[in-house]
Amino acid sequence: MSVMITDSCINCDACIDECPATAIINADESPSADGDYRYAYVKPEECTECVEVSVPKCEEVCPTEGCVVWDMPYTETYNDHFITSDDYVILVDKEKGLMSPLVAPRPFRESISIEDRINHVSVGETLEQYNQ
Ligand code: SF4
Ligand code: SF4
Repeated sequence: MSVMITDSCINCDACIDECPATAIINADESPSADGDYRYAYVKPEECTECVEVSVPKCEEVCPTEGCVVWDMPYTETYNDHFITSDDYVILVDKEKGLMSPLVAPRPFRESISIEDRINHVSVGETLEQYNQ
C-alpha cells in the first residue's frame, strides 16, 4: 500500500470513482471486515499513494475523519507484510503470478515516516507533511 481504509468507513463509496489508480473496491467485494460489517478495501498492489497530487484523493473526498490511514510502502522491503497477512488479497496475474511488492512495487510518499505507517496514523493527521 499505501493506504488502508478502516472500519470507520460508512460505505458511501465516494472514494471509489475518485481513485486515479482504480485501487478501491466497495464493501460487497471487499475482504475487509469487522465481524459481519464489511467496508471498502484498498488494493495495495494498485495504490500509488496519489504521489502526483498534494492530498490523496480518497482522503480528500472521505466524509469520515480518520477513516483512511497509512500502511507500509508497497516495496520489496515490506514484501512479507503484504503477502503473509490475511488483511490483504493480492491480485494473481495470469502471466506474472502474484503481484507482490517484489514483482510489482508501487510508488510511495517518502515524506511519511515508517513509524507513522506502522502506527497506521490517519492520512488527515499528516496533511502538513505532504509535498516535502
Ligand atoms: S491514495 Fe490514491 S491511489 Fe491510493 S487508494 Fe487512495 S485515491 Fe487510490
Ligand atoms: S469515502 Fe470514506 S467512508 Fe466513503 S467508502 Fe471511501 S473510505 Fe469509506
